[in-house]
Amino acid sequence: MMILEDSIKTLKGVGDKIAGFYEKLSLKSLWDLLFYFPRTYLEFPKPIDSLADICDGEIVALRICIQESPKNRKTGKMDITTLNTFVENVPVNMVWFRSPYIKSQLNLHNTYIFYGVIKSDGPYRKKMEQPVIYTEEKYAKELLSVQPIYGLTKGLSNNQIKKNVSDIVNSLEMEEFLPNDLLKKRKLESFSYALKQIHFPNTFDSLCQARQRLVYNEFFAFFLNMEMTKTKEEDVPNHFKLLKNEYYQKCLDGLPFALTDGQKTCLSEVMDDFNGEFVSQRLIQGDVGSGKTIIAFLLMTYMVENGYQAAIMAPTEILATQHYHTFLKYIEDYDLPFEAILLTGSKTMKEKRMVYEKLASDTPCYVIGTNALIQEKANYDSLGLVITDEQHRFGVKQRDAFRKKGKGPFTLVMSATPIPRTLSMILYGDMNISVISDVPAKRLPIKNAVIKQKDVPTAYQFIYKEIRLGRQAYVICPLVEASEKTESENVTDYGKKLRQYYQDTVSVGVLHGRMTAEEKASVMEDFAAQKIDVLVSTTVVEVGVNVPNASVMLIENANRFGLAQLHQLRGRVGRGEHQSYCIFVDSSKEDKNKRLDVISHSNDGFYIASEDLKLRGPGDFYGIRQSGEFDFSLGDIYQDAPVLKIASEDVKELLSSDPRLSLDEHAKIKEYLYHLNQHQYTNL
Ligand code: ADP
Ligand code: MG
Repeated sequence: MMILEDSIKTLKGVGDKIAGFYEKLSLKSLWDLLFYFPRTYLEFPKPIDSLADICDGEIVALRICIQESPKNRKTGKMDITTLNTFVENVPVNMVWFRSPYIKSQLNLHNTYIFYGVIKSDGPYRKKMEQPVIYTEEKYAKELLSVQPIYGLTKGLSNNQIKKNVSDIVNSLEMEEFLPNDLLKKRKLESFSYALKQIHFPNTFDSLCQARQRLVYNEFFAFFLNMEMTKTKEEDVPNHFKLLKNEYYQKCLDGLPFALTDGQKTCLSEVMDDFNGEFVSQRLIQGDVGSGKTIIAFLLMTYMVENGYQAAIMAPTEILATQHYHTFLKYIEDYDLPFEAILLTGSKTMKEKRMVYEKLASDTPCYVIGTNALIQEKANYDSLGLVITDEQHRFGVKQRDAFRKKGKGPFTLVMSATPIPRTLSMILYGDMNISVISDVPAKRLPIKNAVIKQKDVPTAYQFIYKEIRLGRQAYVICPLVEASEKTESENVTDYGKKLRQYYQDTVSVGVLHGRMTAEEKASVMEDFAAQKIDVLVSTTVVEVGVNVPNASVMLIENANRFGLAQLHQLRGRVGRGEHQSYCIFVDSSKEDKNKRLDVISHSNDGFYIASEDLKLRGPGDFYGIRQSGEFDFSLGDIYQDAPVLKIASEDVKELLSSDPRLSLDEHAKIKEYLYHLNQHQYTNL
């Protein structure tokens, strides 16, 4: 008997070696593999009799009645088989290598389907190399099938994965956990059918049905987790004594800029919360650069002056450190009699112990850190406010863990993910929502350009000019080091290349995630202090980094990044009063990359997200991954919004009748959720 918890090694033909390859994909148990869904599917195109509308390089199935026999010849040691055919008077030459037997397979005046890539062969002719030959009947069968294509790693073939998954699917019957009437009501397929079809679809339609069911599962589990772990707002009366606002006001009055309307509204909404009857949670949504940090600082100041601790958690050490320095500067500027404490994972044990002691003492202070703030050892004396910055980079679990650190603190989560309000209301349960929809007035819109690799030297000269004007630049590369797998640019070699290019006229720094925390911090400090002119970096600067003097960003291999990520990256420039520029290098072979076209024509996160959705065809099964927060493997909060809505309703209804899922008829749901959490949330 197979058990899902069993190791992949229990599968027939999987030994240590293959299990080792699987482990590279983080696949260890049968469950892992069963939920390792195909990356995409191979569908056969309908046979065609004409080459109109067909571009070079397209995969086609040509229906051809052959009028000549194939010819075999030898070039050196190589057997070559050729066949001259015509498609509507256009000559199409078929070529096969090392396949002399083909000659005997084809009968004159018979019709076959030739499946392969069509290419130009001179101005008037076309050719196909190694086309696969089908009879019409056989091809008709292929047309109906949809083949799974899995994400691979070196040593692991698609066939290997197919075989192993098929062994699991065929000998394991997944038990249904949803009530029958719910399945009927929502027209959902059974769990076990869905799992079979997602891997081995009978037809495209059955694949869509399967996906629908599994997406429903993901959302259903998400809402169950959310609802079952949340403390209801009404549960926690506002016991905080918030009477003073001297320093809060002092900071407000002393700001070097006028707050935007969005910032003002947001502040007053949170202030109303603070004065409310119950402790509340609020989402603050604002596009990159809308000025969320100062909001956090002001609100934290208010809490601190009233005698409480206020903490802000950032997703990266770089960002936490930056916030810490920003806060120190504000404290100095406004002459505030409060302390700021930084807690990150890379502190020594001794340093950490000192921080822990402070947190447990009754000194009101600003606390800034990474997820070290929610580790077990961090215990707080009197948390009044917890803020999760860049919430889209954290999981819901972390947000909740943070809140549970205090005795019911006010909670703010700040996010730049552009989610329509109706969706936010569902996804964030009963949180209140504030939206900062404007950006500071003085800011000039970023100017964008898409260039090909041959024009990169011109971009270097442009960067040079900006630097001479006193500005700074980012260059983003996808990789840390050279890789055998892709030709993408890497930070290490690129840094050397740029140093050579600029000689001593420009100072070039390098930043990536594999450096130690100290190295990273020191590079960021040097960049902020303008000791570095050009920072060559991986996407570690993607979130939150704020160096307003930087005015140019050059993104290498921009075509390899997702739109949401490009938008976040670009948000590193255009943060000050200087005109800023973002240059996207398109290293693809296409004439025009559609996604780069979208991003270079808009700086608006909402618009970009909606265009992203439009660019995705019906065959795009996987989420846009706008957000690590809602880390669904299949579900896409935008595309699958209707499913999201019904799953949320169903969970609410279920829990209203059985809040702890203690009824016998719901035991299977509970069991499923338990399994899922075991597998998914092992990191926290
Ligand atoms: P984000 O919303 O992306 O976190 P930040 O809080 O980092 O943005 O703000 C970006 C920059 O804009 C910072 O340098 C900040 O000081 C500045 N800033 C914030 N609010 C305003 C404002 N109302 N007017 C001008 N500049 C502002
Ligand atoms: Mg920010």
